[in-house]
Amino acid sequence: MAKAASVPDEQPRFNPTNIQIRMAKVIIIGAGGVGSVCAHKCAQHPEVFSEIVIASRTKKKCEALIEAIREAAAKRGQKSLPAMEADSVDADSVEQLCEIFRRHKPELVINLALPYQDLTIMDACLECGVNYMDTANYEPRDEAHFEYSWQWAYRERFEKAGLTAILGCGFDPGVSGVFTAYAAKHYFSAMETLDIVDCNAGNHGKAFATNFNPEINIREITQKGRYWQDGQWVVTGPLEIHKELTYPNIGGRDSYLMYHEELESLVQNFPTIRRARFWMTFGQEYLTHLRVIQDIGMARIDEIDYNGQKIVPLQFLKAVLPNPQDLGENYTGETSIGCRISGKDKEGKPLTYYIYNNCSHHEAYLETGMQAVSYTTGVPAMVGAMMFLTGKWQKPGVHNVEEFDPDPFLETLAMNGLPWHEVVNGDLEL
Ligand code: NDP
Repeated sequence: MAKAASVPDEQPRFNPTNIQIRMAKVIIIGAGGVGSVCAHKCAQHPEVFSEIVIASRTKKKCEALIEAIREAAAKRGQKSLPAMEADSVDADSVEQLCEIFRRHKPELVINLALPYQDLTIMDACLECGVNYMDTANYEPRDEAHFEYSWQWAYRERFEKAGLTAILGCGFDPGVSGVFTAYAAKHYFSAMETLDIVDCNAGNHGKAFATNFNPEINIREITQKGRYWQDGQWVVTGPLEIHKELTYPNIGGRDSYLMYHEELESLVQNFPTIRRARFWMTFGQEYLTHLRVIQDIGMARIDEIDYNGQKIVPLQFLKAVLPNPQDLGENYTGETSIGCRISGKDKEGKPLTYYIYNNCSHHEAYLETGMQAVSYTTGVPAMVGAMMFLTGKWQKPGVHNVEEFDPDPFLETLAMNGLPWHEVVNGDLEL
């Protein structure tokens, strides 16, 4: 990337007096990589998260997580912790969800289970009067299909119930949408092109592993590519378009155009954007493994009969692949995710803008026991929950993150392990 014309890189100062403190109880559903990071980070803020229930299919994992949080707090010398409790729930069952919601009476549910559970959890929230947040849009199990329509269909019901649902509050979706909202608020009169660029330049030392839930991850990247151009979606073959992009502190990496869910809401919420794309880096070794997995039928999501038992090949594959939660210990390198935007500045002059975060796998591991992909998702989930609980992001209805004020979110994000940087009028390469 060409040298930036200017680099306004001063991080915002966290001012606790800006935050209206109100203690609250949350339920985190899911104790995987992302759930673990989010729970660690919430526990660092007992002044906001006074009580945390961690509920998942396997209660033992929730108990182990609470133990790990206590140990990490003791190491840091953190004296006061929220009250924490482990519970079990099958989040595919509205009945079970309602039972735990009625028993614990949380103010907010942070859904960090899988995208399959989004709608049952939203149904239970409506039934029990609980607010909702997640990091990934709903997907039906039998079809790898990404769109917000299923969850947007809940808008009126959440609005009428006076409840807030915040969708997609991880990094991408999540911070990518907040970065875009920040650019719109502070820099542009009209954004014209948006490229979300996601690079993982880490090395976990395994021949093949995914960085978050393998089933969800492989479903996502084997889909056709799709980008927004002049008011319509253009469809490409899976990973058909790629080009080398330069990432800060990393260098050049082959980056592949993919469809990613936040594009759908961003082009609606910022209608001046005429082209919106999403790029993700993959190494050749990873792509070769992925091709073989597909070619031999292991990426199939339909049921097959095996020795009289029904199995889904991709779910079986997940069971034999490395667990993403175990990658952290030997993970080196960093991630770099950001938004590259062009358009007209507030005076109508041409402007390019790049806003990004780099996150070290090793530092994420030292703090939470998880690698940077889980960390960059779990931290924004905590920050989004904090925005809701402190009254900054409360609006009855179902909303994507870019519909809220980006400033307090980004200020809090920078103070909680994910500092971000800006390049104004640099070469976007795109
Ligand atoms: P994991 O597979 O590591 O963890 C998922 C957790 O959900 C596990 O604890 C699992 O329990 C639990 N779970 C699964 N099904 C149910 C169920 N029916 N009822 C209750 N609990 C259940 O996934 P990750 O932590 O990697 O990912 C979590 C979410 O984060 C996913 O939705 C993923 O798409 C999203 N994500 C978002 C990103 C973003 O930037 N926006 C990036 C990365 C991930 P058990 O262990 O017992 O199976």
